[in-house]
Amino acid sequence: MLIVVSGPSGSGKSTLCRKVLNNIENLFFSVSHTTRERRENEIHGKDYYFISEEQFKKMIKNNEFVEWAIVYGNYYGTSKKEIEEKASKGDLILDIDVQGASQIKSKFQDAIFIFIMPPSFEELRKRIIKRGDEDFFSVEKRLKIAKEEIKHYREYDYLIINNELNKAVEELASIIITQRCAQRKDSIEVKRIIESFCEKEK
Ligand code: ADP
Ligand code: 5GP
Repeated sequence: MLIVVSGPSGSGKSTLCRKVLNNIENLFFSVSHTTRERRENEIHGKDYYFISEEQFKKMIKNNEFVEWAIVYGNYYGTSKKEIEEKASKGDLILDIDVQGASQIKSKFQDAIFIFIMPPSFEELRKRIIKRGDEDFFSVEKRLKIAKEEIKHYREYDYLIINNELNKAVEELASIIITQRCAQRKDSIEVKRIIESFCEKEK
């Protein structure tokens, strides 16, 4: 199952994803490729694959992405390789923007879509500034684009308002678990159970 998480920069997507990835088994993070500068606390291969614009464009040309987009002036994309390798092990969380989410929607019918909303515009501004990775212009650019991104919330299956962190984490975990139960009907585990009911009596 693909779990797509979108929302404005600073709404708390990474924080929420990190928390549920630590708490739910067989859940993996889809590591995107990006041309954005690496932040101090980020690790290549864990948070992103940091590559040059030239490498990114080569990957586009070779049709290596499931989806890609230009967000806040940088390239971001989910590679086919990443999805193929990790989706075979379990469920996969994709932290991607609204353009990428719409591309996934057209390709994966079973994917679920979750929108993360901050409690207010002002709180969003405070959180981006507090995170401290952006200069003034980058903060303003992200806030300006947030006004457009927020309009897309209705296109998503679920909406989480990330006000109180623990509550938001609980909601995200609940959605994933609920969705697993809903999609369980075609699983190998259920197939085995049903088969055990069909075995001939000795
Ligand atoms: P995103 O991945 O959506 O860009 P982050 O997860 O990096 O957002 O969160 C942005 C900042 O807001 C971080 O400093 C994070 O610690 C903080 N944050 C996230 N959720 C909350 C919350 N519920 N309350 C207060 N601060 C939060
Ligand atoms: P950030 O630079 O703050 O890590 O991420 C900026 C934006 O890019 C966020 O909205 C994030 O969801 C989005 N993003 C991250 N990876 C991808 C990706 O692979 N594809 C798309 N379309 N967006 C992505």
